[in-house]
Amino acid sequence: MNGDRGHQEKRCQGVPASPGIARGPIHVFSIETDDVVKYHIDPAHVPDEIARFENALIQTRVQILEMQQRIAEAIGAKDAGIFDAHLLVVEDQTLIDEVLRKLEADQCNVEFVFQEVANRYVESLSRIDDPYLRERALDIQDVTRRVIRNLQGKSPRPFLSVDQPHILVAHNLTPSDTATMNRDQVRGLALDLGSRTSHTAIMARSLGIPSVVGLHDATESLETGTPALIDGYHGLLIIHPSEETLREYDEIERQKGAIAERLTHLRETKSTTSDGRHIVLSANIELPDEVDAVLANGAEGVGLYRTEFLYLNRTTLPSEAEQFEIYRTVAQRVAPNPLIIRTLDLGGDKLSENNESGDELNPFLGWRAIRFCLENLEIFKAQLRAILRASVNVNVKMMFPMISGLDEVRRGLQIVDECKSELRREGSPFHDGLEIGVMIEVPTAAIMADLLAREVDFFSIGTNDLIQYSVAIDRTNERVAHLYQPSHPSIVRLLKMVADAAHANGIWVGVCGEMAGEILFTPLLLGLGMDELSAGASLVPLVKNAVQRLTMTECVNLVEEALLLDTSAAVLERCTEVARRNYPELLS
Ligand code: PEP
Ligand code: MG
Repeated sequence: MNGDRGHQEKRCQGVPASPGIARGPIHVFSIETDDVVKYHIDPAHVPDEIARFENALIQTRVQILEMQQRIAEAIGAKDAGIFDAHLLVVEDQTLIDEVLRKLEADQCNVEFVFQEVANRYVESLSRIDDPYLRERALDIQDVTRRVIRNLQGKSPRPFLSVDQPHILVAHNLTPSDTATMNRDQVRGLALDLGSRTSHTAIMARSLGIPSVVGLHDATESLETGTPALIDGYHGLLIIHPSEETLREYDEIERQKGAIAERLTHLRETKSTTSDGRHIVLSANIELPDEVDAVLANGAEGVGLYRTEFLYLNRTTLPSEAEQFEIYRTVAQRVAPNPLIIRTLDLGGDKLSENNESGDELNPFLGWRAIRFCLENLEIFKAQLRAILRASVNVNVKMMFPMISGLDEVRRGLQIVDECKSELRREGSPFHDGLEIGVMIEVPTAAIMADLLAREVDFFSIGTNDLIQYSVAIDRTNERVAHLYQPSHPSIVRLLKMVADAAHANGIWVGVCGEMAGEILFTPLLLGLGMDELSAGASLVPLVKNAVQRLTMTECVNLVEEALLLDTSAAVLERCTEVARRNYPELLS
């Protein structure tokens, strides 16, 4: 097929990560290494090196200030203090003087001298057993990278400054990159790495950016400026789309627009099956300002607030006071509906650069989430106290991530009790009866759900991790993305065990993994008896419509049959049949 101006159309198949269609020129973000080579400088040119250094420091300062503003907008907080520690580094006179002294003495290029001096600072600070000084070491590392890139004439995150509408193509992006990129200009996203449940993909869905991930090396040969189209429904990146393809996609967009228009009318309706069972349908958020989308899409509250995104591009956690303000504002906006705050789930693919855990070989199996919090009581308690204080007269619940056994739950609850006693002593009001639940996302927790159910008020099943750990697939690895199978017979059995254990102990159970937003699986989840589903806000109307068209009888029958089937494909086929029978046009 001939593409634009005689170019051959080329289709690259990846994994659909965020629905929607985007067109535009691509912008390729290629990762260059920051190798710093040493070279000799003629003594006469030392003043030029000093000038280069001064310019780079000024440039870095400007970039940090811009970043600070961008983050403040992204997380909706007016906290100007976020990057103050970084600004202090560029203004550190001792460090600057030492660079200048060494430059005169060694007579070599300033990036090499600066890197040597900065690295020595970082090493000695990291050795000191003081959390504040260790954080300073991280600040210096981060700023050093920026200054060196500026000295080398490379922009820090070049895609952040593209000021034309474009499709961003990259080998990989971190979730923070995705959260902070220029949302006004990025029409779509195409990445070599990643899978549907990587946090970059989740973030792109939350932001409503059509995205394709897991393209392997498809983006290697692409050039900035090439016209392209992203089909986020089917995971396609189309380069040089032909006239015919563009017309085809005009029609698809028209149809999708008509469905979206119809779904907006569901905003005020209830997520109740046609035979009368009400399922709480809530939304997941990563950033406080996503509450707008939660309300606009008619979700019944927030079923998962991923608070670790408060850590976004900063090296210190927000204080208790700052967290209190944020939680309170979000809770008030969704009240009387619930806001379920998940305690920090740092680690895995999230913000590990900033995490004290350093370079772990297996971050998903490492020092993350509740494991990290139970060993960092100061951080954990600040969050628990903020949540408790924010829960007065609104509907706040909290849950612990990555629970693998009873000890962690009991220890977590004990720390909550300690926080309550402290608040009582201080005379700070809080909601004593605040519901506390656990996420079921580690297979050991699913298997012993009957024992855990006695200790908590609810379960929220994190299918992203539950599938990752049960099937033994790294959720960010595109090579094994095909093995992410929510319809795997073992997963169906685990989900049933968890739902049954919850109900036998009189507590409610929900699903907040990405599976909750996949309408192929709505009949299965309803039939398993889930009381709540929490999906990305933009998917809520679709899931609501699916729920409204189903009957519980049909869903329960589906589960009975699915439990007898022996492959993922067979279970998926049955789920697809039920979905097709009830809402064919939502699937197309
Ligand atoms: C999950 O694991 O399903 C989940 C909801 O948590 P996260 O995606 O943040 O790990
Ligand atoms: Mg998880």
